Amino acid sequence: MEKMTTWPTNTKEQPLIIAGPCSAETEEQVMAVAHQLKATDVSIYRAGIWKPRTRPGLFEGIGTQGLVWLQRVKEETGLRVATEVANKDHVQECLKHGIDVLWIGARTTANPFAVQEIADALQGVDIPVLVKNPVNPDVNLWLGAIERLEKAGISNPGAIHRGISPLGKSIYRNNPEWQMPLALKAQRPDILLINDPSHIAGNRQLLAGIAETALGLDMDGLMIETHINPDAAWSDAAQQITPKTLLGLLAKLKAKNQPTDTLAMADLNNMRSSIDYIDEQLIDLLSYRMQVATEIGQYKKRHGMAIMQEERWAELLTKHASQAASRNLNGEFVTQLFNSIHQESVNSQNQLSRK
Ligand code: PEP
Ligand code: MN
Repeated sequence: MEKMTTWPTNTKEQPLIIAGPCSAETEEQVMAVAHQLKATDVSIYRAGIWKPRTRPGLFEGIGTQGLVWLQRVKEETGLRVATEVANKDHVQECLKHGIDVLWIGARTTANPFAVQEIADALQGVDIPVLVKNPVNPDVNLWLGAIERLEKAGISNPGAIHRGISPLGKSIYRNNPEWQMPLALKAQRPDILLINDPSHIAGNRQLLAGIAETALGLDMDGLMIETHINPDAAWSDAAQQITPKTLLGLLAKLKAKNQPTDTLAMADLNNMRSSIDYIDEQLIDLLSYRMQVATEIGQYKKRHGMAIMQEERWAELLTKHASQAASRNLNGEFVTQLFNSIHQESVNSQNQLSRK
């Protein structure tokens, strides 16, 4: 199979699909998933060989022997193969084993020294590399990593949107923060942008909605973790799906993404997905606000303080009203909205104080 220098073509109707397990575990597992993904819409097979685990003592990847299994995947299925690299040794091992696509993980993107080491190891080798967004919400860090690779001669870098570590409780493992990929796309409309709903969701239930929003926002493709027996996976068990579930999900997404009769309908759909995305963010923010209000309630209870502090609330309302005016929002609407948000916080603090 010849060397891959560019991305497989992708269109709105046929986005680029990367799938495979979070981690390569055994040769049997790697081959079984690959054979089920052969001759489907999946064009690149992923498997983590060196795993960046947040806490020590967890499965840290099968190491170099897994690269031989990926070579076998290439030979037997014709799928291109991809894995994560975090240092120069990983890069060298991958190049030695004919890995087609490399990706830089979110924790690595956050470290310019590590990214530079990878870029240096790739000097003179033009291979497609995908850069995951850093774990912190910094678009420049993401762009910076892409630029370091380009300076080393990588002519086809791509980006993967995998969300941001949440500060407080969140329904997502990593908050999508859709404004990040949109900002990246605005600055670099020329590069491939893939969404990774698996690491955003952290569970199977939220996967489809995230994937749909990503395609609605015109991303070029999806990376979805796929395992032969997800519940028994050695890493990220809760978010992996079987190849069969993946194919069902892709078919549903395709049906939703049919070319529309008129341009106007397509535009309307785009605007609707922006509204969906904004509403999702509003709900996330409301949930975060309620959580902070509960913490404040607990503090007030411990210190015997009154729940309702009229002066502070009057001050906030004035601030909201002037901010609303500066953004061309109807002041009365904003005051009403905040009064009802505030009422809900007071109710929940009252409930706490009765406990
Ligand atoms: C992965 O893709 O398995 C992975 C470790 O992802 P991230 O770098 O996004 O955490
Ligand atoms: Mn994973």
